[in-house]
Amino acid sequence: MSTSMPGTIMDFPLTLSTILERAPLFRDVEIVSRRPAGAEIFRYTYGDFHRRARSLAAALQRAGLRPGDRIATLMWNQYQHLEAYFGIPSAGGVIHTLNLRLHPNELAYIANHAEDRFAIVEESLLPVFEKFRAQTKIERVIVTGSEYEAFIAPGDSGYEHPVLDENAAAAMCYTSGTTGHPKGVMYSHRGIVLHSFVCAMQDAFAVSEQDTLLPAASMFHANAWGLPHAAAMMGAKIVLPASDMSPEGLLDLFDREQVTLTSGVPTIWAGVLDGLEKNPGRWKLAPRLRVVIAGSAAPESMFRRFDKFGVRAIHLWGMTETTPVATISHVQPHMRGLSEDARYDVRATQGTPVPFVETRVVSDNGECPWDGTTLGELQVRGPWVAGAYYNMPETADRWTADHWFRTGDVCSIDPSGYIKIADRTKDLIKSGGEWISSVDLENTLCGHPKIREAAVIAVAHPKWDERPLALIVLRENASAKEEEFRDFLAQKFAKWQIPDRFVFVDELPHTSTGKLQKLTMREQYKDWKW
Ligand code: ADP
Repeated sequence: MSTSMPGTIMDFPLTLSTILERAPLFRDVEIVSRRPAGAEIFRYTYGDFHRRARSLAAALQRAGLRPGDRIATLMWNQYQHLEAYFGIPSAGGVIHTLNLRLHPNELAYIANHAEDRFAIVEESLLPVFEKFRAQTKIERVIVTGSEYEAFIAPGDSGYEHPVLDENAAAAMCYTSGTTGHPKGVMYSHRGIVLHSFVCAMQDAFAVSEQDTLLPAASMFHANAWGLPHAAAMMGAKIVLPASDMSPEGLLDLFDREQVTLTSGVPTIWAGVLDGLEKNPGRWKLAPRLRVVIAGSAAPESMFRRFDKFGVRAIHLWGMTETTPVATISHVQPHMRGLSEDARYDVRATQGTPVPFVETRVVSDNGECPWDGTTLGELQVRGPWVAGAYYNMPETADRWTADHWFRTGDVCSIDPSGYIKIADRTKDLIKSGGEWISSVDLENTLCGHPKIREAAVIAVAHPKWDERPLALIVLRENASAKEEEFRDFLAQKFAKWQIPDRFVFVDELPHTSTGKLQKLTMREQYKDWKW
């Protein structure tokens, strides 16, 4: 029912079904998907996608879907997942993307907590699903392949989308649990639609019908950062890599499909850059390729390395709780006169908030000055920022009394308003009463030619409370002494900030979304003797 003033514009809800109903405008544009079980590539069009997503919506309604019911998905980045992205919410349901890398007990906990009623499961992931299904109350499972095809076979004739409230939930995702128990975030239709507009903006990712998008962020990780929604809104060609997110697998698709826009965590890009540097000329990349990097801080060296291949890296900061796009780094025209190094410094910050996301940095003594040094907690609010965790009243203290979301990230803000994340609160290192940023150290270390990956963690110290310990993975065939890295860091850091020891390891533990697993590392080194 309209609540708008008589004589003003229409009260028109912002819903995903409206985005889905644009698809016939791009009916001949391709959607390309690897099949999870092999290298085979499946191709269809927005016209097919439109019909099949609507058929899924119709089938779910026939199967008894009630408004707001949660439908779990256990899938890779594959075309049926895209159909579920739009078909489930258009039918009035809530798509709940399960993180297929979690432990079965954790998946059972999440599916129960979300009260998932149905599940759509990729055939090759059935063994994962079977490990936790019995612990859940999921009523009906639809497996991709012949079962899914039979489910949607009756088609969409006569089907009409229900009238949806734009504030109704459309999707749901749990935090990946890097810092504790997973917590559920419900995304509204309105939030996702507005977020899609922001993603498409020129100064964000400039998503256009001229683009070919390959999301290399998982579709179960904060909606693949909203890019599939934005691409579908604009009619960009979409390429889905399914289970093959290996550097070579991605580069092959970048080349073959001439991908112009992609997104992923720094770990993925480190591998892709290694591949490009080792095999110059093997892959022909599209001239306009942009790479969106988020999930953890992208080291400055990553921007330099991508530039050498004519690829533009764009740094985004966000969280599952912020749908996720909240801030983006960019070089403003007046900064073009800065030195090259200074411009890279700007690009490696987390940038400034996108329109409608408001940020503030709060220190123990109140709001932080824009001085680039004072550290405080980053707080955010906006139309796609979570207002609560789903069904977890005990987490209400993550929101301030005036209803800003407390991100748990510690950052500074410089005189131009650019945010620089120093750490997650739990990862900051407190040495002799001063804070040391592990992110800063790690990112500088990653710029050393002998280092493939680095983590810096706090380890208890009898005199200083905590001291930084660096864990280093060297590049193939490299050998090094601790001194080299100490001297390298001394060019940028004060002596007391430099890790006391550098430990060489073969690999570092990562979370299910490809971030450094600091909890595990701190546990491993808790009895370390200095
Ligand atoms: P989880 O909390 O389980 O890791 P998320 O993917 O939602 O799941 O993580 C969001 C967090 O990731 C942020 O709070 C921040 O600590 C980190 N993060 C995301 N993007 C960036 C970035 N560009 N720079 C630094 N940290 C980032």
